[in-house]
Amino acid sequence: MASRCWRWWGLSAWPRTRLPPAGSTPSFRHHFSTQEKTPQICVVGSGPAGFYTAQHLLKHPQAHVDIYEKQPVPFGLVRFGVAPDHPEVKSYGAEDHRALEIPGEELPGVYSARAFVGWYNGLPENQELEPDLSCDTAVILGQGNVALDVARILLTPPEHLEALLLCQRTDITKAALGVLRQSRVKTVWLVGRRGPLQVAFTIKELREMIQLPGARPILDPADFLGLQDKIKEVPRPRKRLTELLFRTATEKPGPEEAVRQASASRAWGLRFFRSPQQVLPSPDGRRAAGVRLAVTRLEGVDEATRAVPTGDIEDLPCGLVLSSIGYKSRPVDPSVPFDSKLGVIPNVEGRVMDVPGLYCSGWVKRGPTGVIATTMTDSFLTGQMLLQDLKAGLLPSGPRPGYAAIQALLSSRGVQPVSFSDWEKLDAEEVARGQGTGKPREKLVDPQEMLRLLGH
Ligand code: NAP
Repeated sequence: MASRCWRWWGLSAWPRTRLPPAGSTPSFRHHFSTQEKTPQICVVGSGPAGFYTAQHLLKHPQAHVDIYEKQPVPFGLVRFGVAPDHPEVKSYGAEDHRALEIPGEELPGVYSARAFVGWYNGLPENQELEPDLSCDTAVILGQGNVALDVARILLTPPEHLEALLLCQRTDITKAALGVLRQSRVKTVWLVGRRGPLQVAFTIKELREMIQLPGARPILDPADFLGLQDKIKEVPRPRKRLTELLFRTATEKPGPEEAVRQASASRAWGLRFFRSPQQVLPSPDGRRAAGVRLAVTRLEGVDEATRAVPTGDIEDLPCGLVLSSIGYKSRPVDPSVPFDSKLGVIPNVEGRVMDVPGLYCSGWVKRGPTGVIATTMTDSFLTGQMLLQDLKAGLLPSGPRPGYAAIQALLSSRGVQPVSFSDWEKLDAEEVARGQGTGKPREKLVDPQEMLRLLGH
C-alpha cells in the first residue's frame, strides 16, 4: 500500500502562464480523489496556510498531497510579506490590498503598503516599484502592524540595517537597501480614523517603534484626555498597549531618553481622529503633495465605535503616501464562490459553501487578520474537516486523475514546473550569494534568472 507523501510545484512560466485554478490566492484546495485508501489532495498556494493544511492532511497515512504555487519559489508571504528585520515572525498574506477609494489615490507617490512590503522583500511583481524617497515627510494611512512595519523600515537608520546584515538578521533585497540608504524621509505620520483605544497594532511592534534608534515619537497629549478611566475597563492586552501609548504621550522622558530624543534626526507620529478624504496633487498636478483629512469624533461603544466626520478638515503635506488599511484576497477562479465585499470564499469551518470536495483556509477563509499562529490553527482545522469528510464518505465519488491531469495540462501549455528539489538549488544559490554580504540570503527576484539557473 502506498504511504503518504507530498510534492511542491512552482509554476515556472511566471508571469506568462498560470495554472487553473488561476491565480494563487493562498489556501484554496481541491480534493481530486476520494479513494479513501490513497486520497490525492491538491493544495493551491504555498504560503503558511497551504503548508500547514498539507501538514495536517499528511496525518492520513496514505495521503498524497500536491502543493501548487504560481511563483517559482515556495512559502508565499512568509518569504515576501514579513518585515525583513523580523526574521522570527514571518507570517501573513493575501494577493491584494483594500483600496482607499478617494480622489488622487492614483497619483505618483502613492503606494499600497502591500506593494511597498513586496518591493523590499523581493516579490518579483513589485520590483519595478522603485519608490521615490526623496521627500522629507511620508504619511501612512492606517494604524495596524503593517503600517508600523513600513514606518520602521522607512525610519531605521541605514547603518542599523547594515548592522542587521552583519549578524544575518535581515534578508531585505539589495536594491531596496540601496534606495533606503539614499532616503531623505525624516518624518513619518501614521494616520488613524479612530482614537488611541482603537489602534490595530500590537504592543511589541509599538515598543520597538518607541525604541527605534535615531527616531523620536510625536504624540499629542490632547488625544489622550479622559482616557485614563476608560483604560481600566478594557481587556488586558489592549490595556497594556494603551498605557504604553499614554505614558509615551504624557510623561516626561527620563534624562537618558530625553538626550536620545533630542539627538534623534528622524521622527514618527500618530495622528488620531483623521479620516483620509483626498490625496492632494502638487501644483503641477504630477505627484502627491499631501493628504486632506476629515477630522472625526467617535460614536458608539466598544466594538461598534466608529469615526464620524465633524465637518472640519485638515491638510497634511507630504511627498509619499502609503495606504495601509488592510489586505484583501482575490477571487481564485470563476468556478469558486467568492464574496468580493469581504474578500473571502464563503465557507463553514473551511468547507466551501455548495461545492463538496473544496476547502479553504488562511486569509481567504477568514479575512486578512491574525498572525502565523492564527493561520496555523485555522489551517489545521480545515485539514481536520477534510479528513473527517473523507472518512465519512462525504466527498464526491469516482476516481480523479490528480497530478497526472495537471502534469498533462502543464505540458500542453509548455510549462515546466519547478520542483521542490529545484527550489532547494535556488535556496542554496541565495544562501551562497548572501554569504558575501553577511545576509542570511540574497533573494533572487527575477523569475527568468531563477529559471536560467535551473536550466529550464
Ligand atoms: P489591520 O490590522 O486590519 O489594520 C488596518 C488599519 O487600517 C486599521 O487602523 C484600520 O482602522 C485602518 N483602516 C481600515 N479601513 C480604513 C479606511 N477606509 N480609512 C482609514 N483607515 C482605515 O491590517 P494590517 O496592518 O494590514 O495587518 C493585517 C494583519 O496582519 C493583522 O492581523 C496584523 O496584526 C497582522 N500582522 C502582524 C504582524 C506582526 O505580528 N508583527 C505584522 C504585520 C501584520 P479601523 O480600525 O478604524 O478600521
